[in-house]
Amino acid sequence: MEECDVAIIGGGPAGLSAALLLGRSLRTVVLIDNDRARNSAAKASHGYMTRDGVAPGELRRLAREELRQYPTVRLQQGTAKEACSVQGGFVIALSDGRQFASRKLVIATGFADHLPPIRGLRETYGSSVFPCPFCDGYERRNESTAVFGRGHKVYRFTKKLFNWSKDLAVFSDGPSELDQGEREELIQRGIRLFEEPIEELASRDGMLHSVILRGGAVIPRTSGFIADTGASEASDIPDGLLVARDKTGKFDTQAHGKTSVDGLYIIGDAKNAFTGLVGAAGEGYEAGTIIVQELAEEDWERCR
Ligand SMILES: Cc1cc2nc3c(=O)[nH]c(=O)nc-3n(C[C@H](O)[C@H](O)[C@H](O)COP(=O)(O)OP(=O)(O)OC[C@H]3O[C@@H](n4cnc5c(N)ncnc54)[C@H](O)[C@@H]3O)c2cc1C
Repeated sequence: MEECDVAIIGGGPAGLSAALLLGRSLRTVVLIDNDRARNSAAKASHGYMTRDGVAPGELRRLAREELRQYPTVRLQQGTAKEACSVQGGFVIALSDGRQFASRKLVIATGFADHLPPIRGLRETYGSSVFPCPFCDGYERRNESTAVFGRGHKVYRFTKKLFNWSKDLAVFSDGPSELDQGEREELIQRGIRLFEEPIEELASRDGMLHSVILRGGAVIPRTSGFIADTGASEASDIPDGLLVARDKTGKFDTQAHGKTSVDGLYIIGDAKNAFTGLVGAAGEGYEAGTIIVQELAEEDWERCR
């Protein structure tokens, strides 16, 4: 079994950033990743300073290239199957049978989306239909925009999208679950609500041009945003380590992603559901600094 100071599971911006900080702090690190980036459907990533518009894969490639300058950081391709807490740290088992022992463990495994079964959504997701207006709203500003979703969630999402376009139409693909007040608010702003089931999102080369309803009505729309992507944690490793969940169902973490399990940190989307690239990278950096401090203090005590 290979040993290191810190094992990081998940090589998105959160894990990559933590690895960079730890490598620069002379710590031995294994970064385990199975290359299933949540944003891989997107053609471009936005809002990351100096890299606005970069392809998601390119951002990761650049980060991995930087990490290769640090000899104590090992990039390990593979899927972490489970982790257990042992005396002095953790043991992480990969699905190919490899094992790593570490003093600290960072979970940065993100979320996975499970899109609703709307015909044509997969073809348009990441090209002209998106989950996040902060990420892609600017590029689709003032367009005829479809908003997909139900209930209070889609109402709040529509209010947010109003920042980027006033030409909005809500498609609930069945009963909208909006209350009377919410419906009236939409009407007052000229926002149409379509509760009829969706037959298909019609597109060319990933670019939406209309939403076709079951009854045959064709509603022209050039972009879309989806309120609920059916996202859930990509990994249940924290459950196996008995990390408690808070009232909202998220893993219970304190400052810098520290958990109640000694030496275990959860950062990025795995902690927050949707952190954004900068936010996830920031959390990796912060967790890294705290871990270095903890390790240094432990070593200080040992070297009396
Ligand atoms: C379509 C789309 C577009 C987006 N566009 C933007 C944008 O333009 N700007 C922006 O700021 N944000 C954007 N986001 C959000 C952004 O992608 C996430 O918030 C961010 O990637 C979270 O980073 P993370 O490191 O926490 O997780 P992720 O980036 O999801 O990385 C998690 C990593 O962990 C790996 N992993 C999971 N489980 C295991 C396991 N058991 N073993 C090994 N590896 C594992 C996965 O393969 C993945 O590489 C977008 C999201 C989506 C879905």
